[in-house]
Amino acid sequence: MKYIDEYRDKRAVFSLIESIRKISKKKVRLMEVCGGHTMAIHRYGIHSLLPENIELISGPGCPVCVTSQVYIDKIIEYAKMPGKIITIYGDLLRVPGTQSTLDQEKTKGCDIRIVQSSLDSIKIAEENKTKEIIFPAIGFETTTPATAIALLEAKKKGLCNFFVASAHKIMPPVMEVLIRDNSEIDGYIGPGHVSTIAGSKIYDKLVSDFGISIVVSGFEPIDILQSIYMLVKQIESNEPCVAIQYTRAVTHDGNLKAQQIVSEVFEPVTDTWRGLGKIEKSGLKLNAGFSSFDANKHFPVHIEEKPEPANCLCGQILRGINKPTDCKLFAHSCTPEMPIGACMVSPEGTCAAYYQYRNLLNRDPRVPETDIQ
Ligand code: SF4
Repeated sequence: MKYIDEYRDKRAVFSLIESIRKISKKKVRLMEVCGGHTMAIHRYGIHSLLPENIELISGPGCPVCVTSQVYIDKIIEYAKMPGKIITIYGDLLRVPGTQSTLDQEKTKGCDIRIVQSSLDSIKIAEENKTKEIIFPAIGFETTTPATAIALLEAKKKGLCNFFVASAHKIMPPVMEVLIRDNSEIDGYIGPGHVSTIAGSKIYDKLVSDFGISIVVSGFEPIDILQSIYMLVKQIESNEPCVAIQYTRAVTHDGNLKAQQIVSEVFEPVTDTWRGLGKIEKSGLKLNAGFSSFDANKHFPVHIEEKPEPANCLCGQILRGINKPTDCKLFAHSCTPEMPIGACMVSPEGTCAAYYQYRNLLNRDPRVPETDIQ
């Protein structure tokens, strides 16, 4: 297939649904761990097109949602320090810390600037030599290479006023924790973007250790349905493996150049995930060769861990235990305009996706009102 409309073709969609129905006998729970998939599944109403015995659940796939409250509080403390410029990707702006958000601090006068790329932060550092620039770096394997490139660039240029506060995360350890925690996951719809960089090889151990089925998927309706078909086939035949549906972007080895750049700069560390707690070797910190750029080392601040907002179910939602509609605050006091928990902030957050497409949640599956053409 060459064109986008072919991936949304209604006849192909219904043919795939029919194929899934034919082979699907067991009750299965399939988790997506990519915010892009969460959005696509809700946008196209895919959950409502499937047989009742197949349940789709969302996991910790949105980088903003998994960024801990403590980390946001720390960046806010940095922003309040004199002579600092915080350069951030826009989706971090409204993520709730304990008392405030970076957006609120910006309105109070903190110098917080939105950047489109990590290299914009380098430019700001070069233009503001008397200030110290802190780049809060969040995201999974997909965004880590961009931060690594900025650090290599800063080193090459000999910049002394550029710092990175890394909260980068690695996907397989959290997938393992979710299996261990018994969220009753039968298979993963593997993240397409993460796998483009890291390769499908990162999931091999999960299959050999836990016998779970994994299919790395693209983002169009045909991609996702084909991935579900492949997963159901694996589960029904009891032959779990790592398979790639998204072959137009993903290989077993991934982008070796990007992996090499990341390993030049970062090393694994135990990290805290919002709602999930500390997970061993699930984060990345700057290695010894780049410690002069490490904001954590240069600007130590002590932040006390505080409980998540009362009644917010983000933790259980990120584990696939609850759905946003189980939360009392959903669509009442918590909306994308006034988010209470992190899952409502980014459009890729599970609560935000449920909110945006909530009219599709209970629609008649025989009359899909989606972008499927
Ligand atoms: S609806 Fe809001 S408060 Fe409830 S779980 Fe989602 S983000 Fe948290």
